[in-house]
Amino acid sequence: MANSSRIITIRCDKCKRKIFKYEKVGRGHILRCYKKRILENYTVHEGGIIKCSCGNIIGVDRERFIKMNVVHNV
Ligand SMILES: [Zn+2]
Repeated sequence: MANSSRIITIRCDKCKRKIFKYEKVGRGHILRCYKKRILENYTVHEGGIIKCSCGNIIGVDRERFIKMNVVHNV
């Protein structure tokens, strides 16, 4: 079966600003965002914490991916 991917925009669950443009592979929820698939990044990094510019915590940096605080259903 072909490995289909598409480009999606993930938004902050609080203020709805853009967080990432992300190349999503397959179906289902987004629990992790792999850095190599992040095409545009609008987040603020504070140590290992990834935040929206509104201050809402988006996730935690786990080196190869970002573990999302909120499961994004796209
Ligand atoms: Zn926000």
